[in-house]
Amino acid sequence: MRSNSSMIKLVLLGDGRVGKTSLVLRYVDNVFSDKQVATVQASYLTKRLTVDGESVTLSIWDTAGQERFHALGPIYYRDADAALLVYNLLCKDSFNRVQSWVKELRKMANKNIVLVIAGNKSDMDKMQHLNVEDAERYAESIGATHFVTSAKLNTGIDEVFLDVARRVLEQRKSLGP
Ligand code: GDP
Ligand code: MG
Repeated sequence: MRSNSSMIKLVLLGDGRVGKTSLVLRYVDNVFSDKQVATVQASYLTKRLTVDGESVTLSIWDTAGQERFHALGPIYYRDADAALLVYNLLCKDSFNRVQSWVKELRKMANKNIVLVIAGNKSDMDKMQHLNVEDAERYAESIGATHFVTSAKLNTGIDEVFLDVARRVLEQRKSLGP
């Protein structure tokens, strides 16, 4: 259900502390804090952007930290057009969590939901990074795209959100009105 064809609902998913809020704040306000405090309430931000000449509004839903208690229910993502699944490049568990989110979304979310995966904190010790090629292969196998990002250094972030918007618009065109 969408009231306005130029609105795109994007939800952020991923383990606590992987940098979801930091990615959103970097994208929307171009700020970063090393002491990003845990979100206390669900936050909702919008950002207008232009995709191949077409103006769209992303409505971006960040969690209120419920992921820490495994308490994010379908109500959060049910009518989302896209999900941005974030993991920490230095934390295998957080990548496994992305895979379990994908399984849950496949069962419970809009069946055409666009999936984008971001491996965040690329500025941190490269020797400790997970194998990005494996992550890219996984993404490809589920029809997702994969990006390496740093909210701290503002790396890869515009690309992530532009890809979300572009793929949702492409999909809408292919599905028709
Ligand atoms: P969330 O729980 O997934 O929303 O994660 P936050 O955005 O609250 O970030 C958790 C911690 O990781 C904070 O201390 C951030 O400053 C830090 N952080 C987030 N993104 C990055 C990044 O790209 N690089 C580094 N070095 N730290 C980051
Ligand atoms: Mg957060």
